[in-house]
Amino acid sequence: MRIKRLDITGFKSFMERSVFTFDEGVTGIVGPNGCGKSNVVDAIRWVMGEQSAKNLRGRGMEDVIFNGSENKPPLSMAEVSLTFIVDETDQLSPQYQGFSEVTVTRRLFRNGDSEYLINKTQCRLLDITELFLGTGVGTKAYSIIEQGRVGLIVSSKPEDRRHLLEEAAGVTKYKARRKAAERK
Ligand code: ATP
Ligand code: MG
Repeated sequence: MRIKRLDITGFKSFMERSVFTFDEGVTGIVGPNGCGKSNVVDAIRWVMGEQSAKNLRGRGMEDVIFNGSENKPPLSMAEVSLTFIVDETDQLSPQYQGFSEVTVTRRLFRNGDSEYLINKTQCRLLDITELFLGTGVGTKAYSIIEQGRVGLIVSSKPEDRRHLLEEAAGVTKYKARRKAAERK
């Protein structure tokens, strides 16, 4: 699975719709301080289901909605879409098998309402989390390694490091399903 396109509207500093396309290999985001580089990474994390405002460098989740600038009024909704190219080796849930691309979308309105979509069809947050389990992609996965995280991994407790290895090996998905089955 790899990222093909990121589409941001009304999220943090991106008032106007901004589209980023990603080629194969490494992508670097460069620009002056405060131009929104970290906001791009926040958008990727958010659309994949991040629930902690703190992890998105905000106080509350509404902080991700564009809150106005000198001459632009605040917006009432943030929307981010992320499109992945699916590889044959990706073990997606049966309902998504056969798709060559998957797009996940998240919307948040100022009144607190939120929406999640997969390929433009409304779904639950759980469906998005499940979609990424075992793919190495996701809010807590190893696909986004930001500043400071490398050191954290090296010095982490053995249990935490094991979690990372289990996700890489594709075991997490089965563990999550077993947990869900045990609850039923
Ligand atoms: P640095 O190089 O210092 O790390 P950066 O390019 O990573 O900078 P970001 O942290 O992505 O910069 O962006 C910071 C900017 O985003 C600030 O100007 C901040 O005001 C703006 N910003 C954050 N949240 C919002 C919001 N909800 N509405 C409007 N602007 C926002
Ligand atoms: Mg930054």
